Amino acid sequence: MTPGKRKITVLPGDGIGPEVVESALEIIKASGVAVEFEKCEAGARAFQKGIVTGIPTETIESIERTRVVLKGPLETPIGFGNRSANVNLRTLFETYGNIRPVRELPGVQTAFTGRNLDIVIVRENIEDLYAGIEYMQTPGVAEGLKLISREGCEKIIKLAYAYALAEGRKSVHCATKANIMKLTEGLFQRTFEDLAPQYPTIKSKHILIDNCAHQLAMRPEQFDVIVTTNMNGDILSDLTSGLTGGLGFAPSANIGNEVAIFEAVHGSAPDIAGKNKANPTALILSAAMMLRQIGEGKAANDVEQAVLVTLESGLRTSDMIGVDKPATTTGFTQAVIANLGKRSKVSPPKEYKKVEMPPSRLGVNVVLAKSRRLSGLDVYIESDLDPATLAADLEKLTLMSPLKLQMITNRGAQVFPSSGRRVSLVDHFRCRFVLREAATSFGDAEILSLLGTIGAAHRWMHIEKLQEFDGQPAFSKSQL
Ligand code: NAP
Repeated sequence: MTPGKRKITVLPGDGIGPEVVESALEIIKASGVAVEFEKCEAGARAFQKGIVTGIPTETIESIERTRVVLKGPLETPIGFGNRSANVNLRTLFETYGNIRPVRELPGVQTAFTGRNLDIVIVRENIEDLYAGIEYMQTPGVAEGLKLISREGCEKIIKLAYAYALAEGRKSVHCATKANIMKLTEGLFQRTFEDLAPQYPTIKSKHILIDNCAHQLAMRPEQFDVIVTTNMNGDILSDLTSGLTGGLGFAPSANIGNEVAIFEAVHGSAPDIAGKNKANPTALILSAAMMLRQIGEGKAANDVEQAVLVTLESGLRTSDMIGVDKPATTTGFTQAVIANLGKRSKVSPPKEYKKVEMPPSRLGVNVVLAKSRRLSGLDVYIESDLDPATLAADLEKLTLMSPLKLQMITNRGAQVFPSSGRRVSLVDHFRCRFVLREAATSFGDAEILSLLGTIGAAHRWMHIEKLQEFDGQPAFSKSQL
């Protein structure tokens, strides 16, 4: 290690990762910036060695030392196998904010060329369905937990505003599916609406995620910063990358209070790996974001500008529209190096201020309710009985309990008491029990007794307590 040089952990990654990362490293070196790289392993090779997280201890130690990572894409088996090493990295180092900027690039022809697109997706990076908590409830029914916390929402929404202020942006849209998921996506929307008045210089607006996708395809120039939950942001940012040339051009930063990880939005693209065909632009632009983060603003501008000049010159990789003789990954890299120090004619360097990270709160973050009440219990039961027969049996079994059966749903639709609709059923029922009129309260003893009685006759998988916080039901209603 050379004294005085800023250390950076480098994860070449899988598929096209090593090729595009090497391209970025050569350009960083040629920019003359005083940095030193610690190359480490993560992803497919680590999984092959039996490391279940996909992240070896030496890699974790390197990141703890350097706090800054330049990363290639990591492969994740689709539909089976270990949890994604990407998700593990983001969780391990609490990089809760995923910043995904796209803008119109000179020489990159798209359907939106000339509309000056300059959009940033700020994606929550830790929570939501990506917590990866899933269960097979029955052999034929899977369940995934969508976890959203007030703390997680506050952090990402404050980060989105901090980013908007640092870049002098005019508006922040919050994109959710709060009309359907009123508690999870609704919490994100409510937190946004609570915080927005603290940023009076920025126009704040909530938009439903499906309409947001539609508006992005129709009039993308109306958007500036879009803050959203993890899954929404993952999909939306691939969409926005498509507006400005495709995944080969979309950089990103995973930011937390301690560690920042810079990577392209794209994955390992195994179909073009090892062919010297991959477009390294996304990774090079991610490297420029990294240089800016470590205080090397001039080098960041030099690298970014050299990419723009290269694109302006007409050099194109094979993923671009209308290419006759595509440049190779290495050919494109050498052209960028040759253009270091030059400035784009159409897109001069932007002014960047440091993003003021919202302070992190340590310990367990608690949201208090003034009052709480336990009002019922949902018991999830696997059964091949028809709803009326199941209901009659449950009513008979629980006659002596302070709780009585109120309704049964199947995949969210009420099937007892019957709504009269014909519903195609699966063997997974949510059976809702509420306090009988004559009873005043119940607790864990009564719940355990009820489960013991039901469990003697039926296979139950899990339960949810029905709570009320400050007089408001803390659970969703059934859908008729
Ligand atoms: P992908 O790797 O992003 O590739 C999708 C397609 O986009 C490729 O087949 C290729 O299209 C094109 N493409 C992507 N990057 C390109 C580049 N730099 N230059 C030229 N073309 C590029 O998505 P995927 O196929 O869905 O995922 C593959 C693997 O990557 C999976 O294991 C997934 O889990 C992983 N992944 C990792 C990350 C990450 O590490 N952050 C992110 C996303 C996905 P053509 O077919 O037209 O060549």
